[in-house]
Amino acid sequence: MPFRPPGQCPVCGEWVPRGAAACDDCGACAKSGWKDDAETYDGLDLPDEDFDYDDFIKREFDNRARQLGGPTREQLWRWVGLAVFIVMVLGYLISVFR
Ligand SMILES: [Zn+2]
Repeated sequence: MPFRPPGQCPVCGEWVPRGAAACDDCGACAKSGWKDDAETYDGLDLPDEDFDYDDFIKREFDNRARQLGGPTREQLWRWVGLAVFIVMVLGYLISVFR
C-alpha cells in the first residue's frame, strides 16, 4: 500500500508532515517513488531493495561539490609541487644571473 503523509518517510525515515508532497529530508515523493510504491513501477530498471538512497544522494552532492568548487586533494598537491618548483627555478636563476 502506497505511503501517504503524515508518517515516517519509507525512504529515509524522517517524519513527513501531513499534506507534504515530498520528504523534506531526502526529497522522495509519490512521483520519484516512496519505497512502498516500487511495485507499481514494475518493468522499469529500478535499483534493488538494498539500494541506499541516502548514500546515493550523498555521493551525488559530493560529485557536484567537486565539479563546482574546491580542488581535490591531488590537484592541491599538484599546485603545491608546481609552486615549489617555480620558487626553486627562480632562486636558481637569480643566483646565476646576479
Ligand atoms: Zn525521506
